[in-house]
This record gives sequence, C-alpha cells and structure tokens, in this order.
Amino acid sequence: MKSRFEELLDVAYENLRLSSLIVIGIATVLLVVFFGHVENSLLFIWYFFVVVVSGFRFVAQAVYKKQKKRFTIKQWKNIFSVALLSIALLFGITPFLFFIQESPAYQMILFVIIAGLTAGGASSFASMRKITQVYLVIIIFPLIIELVMQNTLIYYSLAFLTFIYLVLLIFIVNTSYRNYFELLNSKRMYQKEKEKFLLSQEHFQAVFRQAPLGIFMYDTKFVIQEVNQEFTEFLEAPMDFLIGLNLTMLPDTRILPAISVTEYGIEGFYEGEYNSKYKNKDLWISMHTSPLKDTKGEVIGGIGIVADITQRMRTQMDFEHQAKYDTLTNIPNRTFLLEKMAIEISRYKRHTTLFGLLFLDLDHFKNVNDSLGHAVGDKLLVKTAQRLGKIIREGDTLARLGGDEFIILLADLGTEEHDAARKAEVIAQKIHTTLQTPFVLDKHTLSISSSIGVAIVGEKNEDIDDLLKHADIAMYEAKKMGRNTTKFYKLEMDSWISRRVSIENGLRSAIENGELELYYQPIVEFSTSNIIGAEALLRWNTTKVKDVFPDEFIPIAEESGLIFEIGKWVLENALRQFMQWRDEFKDLDTLEKIAVNISAHQFDNTSCVADIASTIKTSKIPEGCLDLELVESALVANVQSVQTKMQEFRDLGVGISIDDFGTGYSSLSYLKKLPFTKLKIDKSFTMDIQDDVDDKELISAILMIAQTFDFEVVAEGVETYEQYLFLKEKNCKYMQGYLCSKPLSAVEFAKLLRENGGKCTLNSNL
Ligand code: C2E
Ligand code: MG
Ligand code: MG
Repeated sequence: MKSRFEELLDVAYENLRLSSLIVIGIATVLLVVFFGHVENSLLFIWYFFVVVVSGFRFVAQAVYKKQKKRFTIKQWKNIFSVALLSIALLFGITPFLFFIQESPAYQMILFVIIAGLTAGGASSFASMRKITQVYLVIIIFPLIIELVMQNTLIYYSLAFLTFIYLVLLIFIVNTSYRNYFELLNSKRMYQKEKEKFLLSQEHFQAVFRQAPLGIFMYDTKFVIQEVNQEFTEFLEAPMDFLIGLNLTMLPDTRILPAISVTEYGIEGFYEGEYNSKYKNKDLWISMHTSPLKDTKGEVIGGIGIVADITQRMRTQMDFEHQAKYDTLTNIPNRTFLLEKMAIEISRYKRHTTLFGLLFLDLDHFKNVNDSLGHAVGDKLLVKTAQRLGKIIREGDTLARLGGDEFIILLADLGTEEHDAARKAEVIAQKIHTTLQTPFVLDKHTLSISSSIGVAIVGEKNEDIDDLLKHADIAMYEAKKMGRNTTKFYKLEMDSWISRRVSIENGLRSAIENGELELYYQPIVEFSTSNIIGAEALLRWNTTKVKDVFPDEFIPIAEESGLIFEIGKWVLENALRQFMQWRDEFKDLDTLEKIAVNISAHQFDNTSCVADIASTIKTSKIPEGCLDLELVESALVANVQSVQTKMQEFRDLGVGISIDDFGTGYSSLSYLKKLPFTKLKIDKSFTMDIQDDVDDKELISAILMIAQTFDFEVVAEGVETYEQYLFLKEKNCKYMQGYLCSKPLSAVEFAKLLRENGGKCTLNSNL
C-alpha cells in the first residue's frame, strides 16, 4: 500500500510534464521578445539552462511513471525539489538579468511571466507544500528586491503588492495542500470501505454457497427469495420449486412461529420433527431465523438457517435405547427399571399407591447353557422375555437384570397390602403356568421353571435398593423351597441372605487365602476291617462365617459357579495327598482307594471328563485308585449322556460311586443302565436301622441286588455297633462312619494308618 506522502508526490509528478512544456514555452517567448534588448549571450545561456532543467524534469516524470522503483521515494522527492528549485532560481534571477528600466512593457512581460509561473506552480505542486512555498519565494523575492531598488514610490508600491501576492500564494498553497490531504484521506477511507464491503459480500456468498447448512431468504410476505444448494438437497426439492414458495402455506406448520417472529425484528428458533411434504420425508431439524433489515433498520424479510439433525437424533435415540434396553431381549434393562421404580416410589409416597417387584430367576438355566451352548441359552432367554411380555399389563415393566434374572414391576396394585399381594400372587402363578409349556428351540424341546421372589413396597420397604434386595432374597428362598415356586419377602429372610452373601464372597478368595483344607474319612472293609481308602471331604477354615460346612457352602459354590475352581482344587489336592500316603505307607497294600465328591454341576459340564483326565494324568495316580462320588440328583438328566460320560470315566480307570443313595428319586431300574461301580447308602437309612423295619428291608434288598448286578455297596453314617452288625451280616462290603472314624485331617489320617497298621478299630466311645 502506498504511503500518503507517495500519493502526494504522485500528484506533483503528474503535473510535471505539462509544467515543463509550459516553462519551455514561456522561456521561448521570453527569448524571442527580449532578443536584442538585453545581453543576448546572457539570454541564450539562461534559455539553455531553462531547456536543460525542463528537459530533465520531463524525463524525470517519464521515468517516475514507468520505473518508479529505480529510486526511493525520498530520492524522487529530492529530484523533484532540485528540479523545481532550479526552475525557480532560473526564473527568480530574470528581474536581475532582464529588467529593462526604461521599458515598462518589458517589465510587464516579466511580471506576467512570473505571475503565471507562480500561480501555476502554486496550483500544480501544492501537494509538495514546503518545496512549492520555497519555490514561490525564490521566484518572487528577487523581483521584489529589483522593484525596491528602483527607489520610486510607484515601484515601492509594486514591490509591496508583489509581496502581498507572495503571501497570498503561500496561503493558497497551504489551503490547497490541506484540501489535497483531505481528499486523499477520504479517497483512502472510501477505498477501505469499498474493500470491506466487497469482502463481506464475498464472505456471505461463500457461506451461502458452501455452508453445510440449508439457508433460505424470504421477503416480508414470507415468500422464499433465495435458497442455497444445501437447502434444496436436504429437502430433496428443486430450487425453482422452492423459490417463490410461500412459507405460510407449508402443510407442516410447526416451523411457522420461528419464521413469523422475524417480522417483528426478533430472532426465532425451532428444533424438532419436520415433515417435508415434497418427498414426504420425516426429518429432525434445527432452525434459526433472523430478520433482514435495510440501511434504515426497516425489516425487509428474513433469513433462515436449517441443519438436518436427523442422523444425530437417531443416534441419540439409539444411544438412549441402548442405555435403557437389554441388547439380547430388547426389553428394559436395569437402568430403565431403576428410573421406573423411582417414579413408582414417589407415586407411592404421594398417593400410597402400592407397587410390587417380581424377581424371577430361571431354574437350572446354567445347565441349558452348559449342555446346549450359549446360543440356545440366549434363545431361551429371548423366548422367555416374549412370553413374560405377554402376561404383564400395560403400565407394568418387564426388565432383564442380566443372566437369567428378570424383574417384573407391577404398578398400581391399589392401596391395600393384602390386595396387592393377592394380585402379585396371581401374576406369579400366571408366569409359572406360562413357562410350563415347553420351549421349542432349534431341534431342542426344553422345559424350564422359575423361582419368583416378591417384594411389595411398604413402610419398611420404600427404597429402590431395599426393594430389589428383598425381592432377590425372596427369590433365593423360593429356590431353596425346591424351585418352581413363589415366595414373598419376609423380614426374617434378611439374616439368611446376608449369610449367603458372606459365604459367596468369602468363597471367592478362599483358595488364594489358603482357607480350604481336605479332611479324610476312612472307608473300611467289613470282612477284614482294613482301611481300603478314604473319602476326601472339604473343609473351609474361615473366620468370616461361623460354623460353615459343605452341606451349606457347596450349593452356594454351585450356584455361583465357584464350584469348578473349587472342585479342581479338591481333586488335585486329594490325589496328591493319596500319592504321598502311597509313598509313605509302601507296605500297606490295602490302601487302594481315594474317593472324591464331584458336584452335579461339574459332572454336567461338557469338559468334565477332559478336565478330570488331565488332573489324573498330572497326579500319576495308578488306574483303579480313584472313585468319583456322584449324588443321585446329578444323574437325572438324559440317561444316554450320563451313561456315555460314566463309560468314559470307566475307560480312564475311574470308579463311579452313587452317593447318598435313597435320597433321590432314581429307581434301581434306571440305575441299572448306568455303568457305576459302587453304591453308597445314605446315612439316613443307616441311622434308622435299629428302629425302622422298612429301612432294614430296603437295605437288605439293595444288598441282594448288588450281588446280582455286581456292584459294591458302602454304608454311610455307621455310628453304632448294631448298625455295624446288621450290615456285616447282610454282606455289605464297605462302611464309613463315626464308629470307625470321623473325617480326619491329613496328618491325623496318616497317624491313624501308622498306629493301627491300616486297620480300623471300632470306636468304643460311640
Ligand atoms: P457325603 O459325600 O455324603 O459325605 C459324607 C458326609 O457324612 C460328610 O459330611 C461326613 O462328615 C458325614 N459323616 C460321615 N460319617 C458320619 C456319621 O457316622 N454320622 C454322621 N452324622 N455324619 C457322618 P460333610 O463332610 O459335612 O459333607 C457333607 C456333604 O458335602 C458330602 O456328603 C458331600 O456331598 C458334600 N461334599 C463334601 N466335600 C465335598 C467336595 O469336596 N466336593 C463336593 N462336590 N461335595 C462335597
Ligand atoms: Mg460323598
Ligand atoms: Mg453321602
């Protein structure tokens, strides 16, 4: 950008060419007129200099115009000044050189020339104020001196008038200079404003064209005047359809208020659904409107900016759905349920409207997953959710907490507690009935039942966590009651459940903390009194729970899935211990069996045989030494699969004992099909030997069948001598019980073997 000084210099140089030509013209006139009247040689020399300087000015102007870069602005200014002042000097000395005293006409010519040159210079070069003023002084001052030197009154007056003329010219230069300056300033401002305007115009056009937003402009009658490409694209309507469209005529009027407010000079906003009739598109839009005003501030229409937020809204809705719905079953999840519960609780607090929670857990769902795979398990959950969904009333909420746990929130159960309980009971019963119809999944037909715990909101039960906890407790109680049942929460259930929770939590870290220990109970042969082996029985040495025995903690380990880790630990340790004794008591060739209990869950697991086979291999235990004890309830599944698995164990050289025989429902005819090796009569039968004739007969029958089918029988829980004698007489092969020994720690068991030489002495204390 040019400096202000440069622009002023431009003006001066602009006038230089004409000025040079005029100067040469004047000098030529002077030459012709004065020739012969003054010293001619002087006249020619003067003329020569004038032509040279003018020529120089002429050339300087041409170079300035074309090759300004050759010199700096300061240098150009100097060139200009030197040339101008030279001219001033050349003409300034003319009164001294060519003043002809006797001829006023010649004097007048000089006057006129000087007046012309100074007036012309003052107007042409006023942009170079100081130089021009010096120029004026240099030209005029010698004339004044010359006039004064004439020493007459008339010449004095002329000198004075000339002086006044000089002062006037100096003033004129000053004023012109200021005018120039102002003109230049306003020219600059105008230039700037123009540039600004063009730029904003360009910016607006760029935004209008390229903005990823739909933009439309309308007049005061709400008729669209202009739209951008994006606007046409997102409405999928052509531009010529949109331009000229009256916005007030649109069928979807939801956006109108935001548009019409611009009439009053106010901005508008709309965010929500919009149906574009042109292609019948349902959109989500966000629209801002602003009034358009003219320079006087009058509203001349409006501009609307629209963003298509359909995608964002869909994602947000999906996200909200995901956050509140279970992905597998597409029913509400815990988050949704908790929100609903909060609403119901406040309704209860305000209007005492009762609501209830049914906590539903599918019975033996894990078995489905383990035996048929997770895909089938998932399908079962989906179908269960569908069936449950059909039972609930409008206003109720069915949610899945995870796994096979569902919650049904029964809203609006009235204000009477007994009435609410009755309604809940009815629905629970409906659920049991609905689930009774077998599920057909792929090629499997599955029957499943559920255990339901019910908690109804009440004075001591009006907080989300409590309600959920209580329904959960009641559900466990229902499970304990034998499944396929409904239980209502009662206060007393609390202590049991907290013990259960402590057990489960404690068991989780029992192995790492070294709290598990195996006890061993001798298995004794009646005929020889030899201790032929031991049954490994788990003990949990914990301070967290009081008096906890396997009967209590094993089922919890089973339900929580901890049994797999624990069972593995038991088997490894029992086998290691057995191998250690075999090594220590080499002479005792009667010690040949180690019996380990495995739970139904372990047995059902698909990798059960493989897992146990690998542990056996690592332990290097000889074939035939390990007996696995399985409770009857583990065998109720499909005979075929139980049979196969048992056979696989037999092939590995592992014996199978049916534990607690008599407590389950399996008939001997069922058992007959299975390749087991031993049958263990449950201690409840043994104990009743003295008084119960039926039990005596049952035991006799079992022992007879055993002989026929060639399996061995172990009587458990032998505590008295009478029991011992009876069993011995009936040819029972083995016994276990306090009469011989309680389960002992590994150290005590070794001591017993050592002291009695591997024999059992009957315990006279009992
Ligand atoms: P079980 O396999 O039938 O074990 C025999 C139970 O009877 C043991 O109880 C034992 O201490 C007890 N017992 C033995 N002789 C007598 C007697 O003369 N009188 C009386 N009243 N009881 C006697 P324990 O050790 O409390 O184990 C209970 C049950 O827990 C076991 O019954 C077994 O089913 C299970 N269990 C124990 N350890 C394990 C294990 O490591 N894994 C699995 N899955 N279950 C185990
Ligand atoms: Mg056992
Ligand atoms: Mg038993």
